[in-house]
Amino acid sequence: MHLFRFDGGRIGITVDGASYDITEAIGIDPGAWPPVQMVALIADFARRTQGVTRHAGTRPIDIAGVRLDVPIEWPNKLIAFPVNYAKHGEEMKSTSRADLSGFFLKANSSLSGPGDPIVLPELPGREIHHECELGIVIGKQGRNVTREQAFEYIFGYACLIDVSARGPEERVMRKSYDTFCPFGPWITTADEVPDPGNLQAKLWVNGELRQNANTRDLIVDIPGMIERSSSVATLFPGDIIATGTPEGVGPIKRGDQVRIAIERVGEMTLAVR
Ligand code: MN
Repeated sequence: MHLFRFDGGRIGITVDGASYDITEAIGIDPGAWPPVQMVALIADFARRTQGVTRHAGTRPIDIAGVRLDVPIEWPNKLIAFPVNYAKHGEEMKSTSRADLSGFFLKANSSLSGPGDPIVLPELPGREIHHECELGIVIGKQGRNVTREQAFEYIFGYACLIDVSARGPEERVMRKSYDTFCPFGPWITTADEVPDPGNLQAKLWVNGELRQNANTRDLIVDIPGMIERSSSVATLFPGDIIATGTPEGVGPIKRGDQVRIAIERVGEMTLAVR
């Protein structure tokens, strides 16, 4: 199943190739603030969506005809693992590595959707890079989750670009500008991704392939990221973990088109402004 937000906070699902607007059926007010409806839905997903495609309030939609919004707008947190592929560590001449340095937090407000442009700030003389990453969506609250339990806590996956200004500031500042975390185009539920440790992830800039790697080369693997992050902080439904970028990062500039595609998960193309 794909789960998505569209047209200003409405909620939709795609099941067996057919898409539905389930906003009324599950009793969501798209304009409610704070925008945490998707987080609440994920927390109680099986119960709230049981039989929803047959509900009187559900209507079929053409997903090609709607504007997709970021699937999760207000998670409790957005965790990110830096330098989690050895070859990316080499290209950055980095002294840190995810298995040694652990994770950082990226501002939740940096999240943006598949229909939103990446808006570059004015930073003269500085490079702003694309980082192609798999996003993990947490489905269940947990602390001190073990490797063995980790997959019980995963709701699904999405494409994620960890846009990063290079420079001397703290990671959290360089990576937290508004629109620096395109995420989407939808959440693919975990049942559709039987082996997330073997997914090809690719990123193109203006049609040129820049990044092409497999999640099997992660230094800290997916269960390891759940274990490490939950040893520090309680994970909540809707939390997002950015798994780290492989080699091939590089600058983006105004006017570029950035496309990300992850096997079994989805793909999206973003304009840079
Ligand atoms: Mn990153």
